[in-house]
Amino acid sequence: MTTNPVHLIEKKRDGGALSAEEISELVRGYISASIPDYQMSAFLMAVVLRGMDEAETLAMTRAYLSSGGVIDLSSVPGIKVDKHSTGGVGDKVSLVLAPLLAAAGVPVPMMAGRGLGHTGGTLDKLESIPGFSTRLSEGAFRDQVASVGCAIIGQTEKIVPADRKIYGLRDVTGTVPSIPLICSSIISKKKAEGTDALVLDVKLGRGAFLRKREETVLLARSLVSLGKGFGIRTVALLTAMDQPLGKAVGNWLEVLESLELLKGGGPEDALEVTLALGGLMLVLGGKTRTQQEGIPILRGLLRSGAAYGKFLGMVKAQGGDASVIEDTAKVPPASFIATVDSPSDGWVAGLDAMEVGGVAVLLGAGRMRKEDPVDPSSGILLRKKTGDRVLRGETLATIFANQGGRIEEARRRLLTAYRFKETTVPSPPVIDCLVDENGERPS
Ligand code: URA
Repeated sequence: MTTNPVHLIEKKRDGGALSAEEISELVRGYISASIPDYQMSAFLMAVVLRGMDEAETLAMTRAYLSSGGVIDLSSVPGIKVDKHSTGGVGDKVSLVLAPLLAAAGVPVPMMAGRGLGHTGGTLDKLESIPGFSTRLSEGAFRDQVASVGCAIIGQTEKIVPADRKIYGLRDVTGTVPSIPLICSSIISKKKAEGTDALVLDVKLGRGAFLRKREETVLLARSLVSLGKGFGIRTVALLTAMDQPLGKAVGNWLEVLESLELLKGGGPEDALEVTLALGGLMLVLGGKTRTQQEGIPILRGLLRSGAAYGKFLGMVKAQGGDASVIEDTAKVPPASFIATVDSPSDGWVAGLDAMEVGGVAVLLGAGRMRKEDPVDPSSGILLRKKTGDRVLRGETLATIFANQGGRIEEARRRLLTAYRFKETTVPSPPVIDCLVDENGERPS
């Protein structure tokens, strides 16, 4: 590194724009460990506070990409389509969508992330299946996308190692909520995994990294345009993340709920988001003309067991123990199970996704420090969500914990995450709008 990193941190701190070479130097320096965590953290915080312009975001994405190789999937027939979420609580949609689209004949090469902040990560969820490996060689990834129709992996030392390292640092330094950082992180991974097209689930609301609607729309627009700039056809769906998606929050609990969805059941809100995103993936994959046309096709593949069959195929191909998927009782539950009960009669008026995600982290389902392991069996099952009628003493949520000493705090925080009203409350909508290269419109 020829430039003193302190000067680059100061330049960003003072609102300046870095050149492509400076950004590339910083990223290379961090990967080679000549820039320590504390300097990179300071730089990332300056980016969160000061932002990056389009040219800097492009340079950051290129720097991420050139930290590793790009997978060539051109030998896999068909239009490859991936889906990526900007991060939510209880968001297990990827676990369902990848095999579902594979069952529909759309190859899905998915490079996913770990839990970040209060949100869960697809890789952590899949790794709660004993033996499941999210580290495949490039060749194994390509072969699996061709043979099974889908594969879900994490970044490796070879594929976008810069994002892998920086993502872990952002998680524990409060530097996630930044449009340029989120955009470069996501689009570099998508380019490197070799997908042709991409559907983004951009989360909106209390549990999302960006809270304000204008910011979220801007994030979606930036992702769509950055994706296009890298030759990936990209559309984004804005979906609600005021309360967690579905009922399960926590790694193995979310696998269990994904299995329900894969068998044609599962919570309505999670199903609705899955079908809406899946409908868009079918269009990008050249299988249908409209999003709506695909919905009954996807429902059929869930009900027939075809999507579940693909999930089993993926688990086996990635070294997972398929017998626990077929007999989930084989996986021991968490050591402590406790309930959170309603203090009064009424209706649930709100359930703070951010706080529920924070409690999941407290229980060990996510990380407080980047080197922390995650606990596969801890988490929360939400028995009541916004719009539900509750009676005094009825169970609102069930806590699954392996550290008994954390239960009281979890219970107290979960109670504060719920808001109640004495009159009926409608169930909130889950789909907000679609953003594509023509702008924003209802989905
Ligand atoms: N998902 C990613 O892959 N990266 C981010 O920065 C946020 C969500």
